[in-house]
Amino acid sequence: MNNLQCIVCGNKQDLKFELQHKVYQCASCDLYTSDATFDLSFQSSLEEDSREIGLKKLRLQNFQSIIKALEENYFKDKKNIKGLEIGSGNGWWLEVCRDNKIDCLGIEPENTFADYYRKNDLNVVMGFYPNPATDLTEGYDFIIFNDVFEHISDLKSLLLSIKKDLKKDGLLIINIPMSNGFFYRTASMLYYLKIKSFLDRLWQFNFHSPHINYFNPKNLPAYLNKYDFKLLQNFRLETLDFSSIRERILADNKMSKAKAYTISSLLLLIKPIIQNSSADIRVFFFRQ
Ligand SMILES: [Zn+2]
Repeated sequence: MNNLQCIVCGNKQDLKFELQHKVYQCASCDLYTSDATFDLSFQSSLEEDSREIGLKKLRLQNFQSIIKALEENYFKDKKNIKGLEIGSGNGWWLEVCRDNKIDCLGIEPENTFADYYRKNDLNVVMGFYPNPATDLTEGYDFIIFNDVFEHISDLKSLLLSIKKDLKKDGLLIINIPMSNGFFYRTASMLYYLKIKSFLDRLWQFNFHSPHINYFNPKNLPAYLNKYDFKLLQNFRLETLDFSSIRERILADNKMSKAKAYTISSLLLLIKPIIQNSSADIRVFFFRQ
């Protein structure tokens, strides 16, 4: 395969990066697409650092911002709303919903966290969406993806199912990494200095579920528009908790103390640059 056709604008995507998988870029809308496929064996780790405390705190803060937007802008009365999260992974979104008294069902193909769901009373159906067990006759008030949308190859059939499963005025919420963010742009520069590991890591090519697409704040809404989803709002989510960054990097046993110290000092030094750059993760709210 020498080129791909861009799912957003239909133009040809040209080879951009030769990593563990090839990455193609659309010259017109800037969508990046890899030739990776989803490995269905489910043998490797879901997310090796997912139990890490620093990371969990940051993720929960991001989820809290999404809940705040839901409550303030869309659901004044949250008692009767029903949500669906596609790809619940470690279950953190469902925990935040439970704590905020929002009824949200999860669907997850991997059983890595099945015990955790049971112990924490989280309502998760095991399987691939669209699974009949997630059908709701009256439709969902919202369907959310947290770090999942970028992993899906057949977005067309996914979005057609979502249109059916959402209420007529239901919300589609997509929390997703961005190709115009500080870390993606830095990793792209390093690629040309022959350092490929950072881009491989961002694309998660060393995990069993790599990214298929890397969107930006313009081409994601353009793509969703094709399925009649209108963008309502989007905002930045945080990728780094600067208050614990040194401890987190020093806690990494695979890295020497000197190297960890250098990296954390460098990140703290460029903190204003990172915070003033385009966000590495954003959340988008659409209405169909
Ligand atoms: Zn394009």
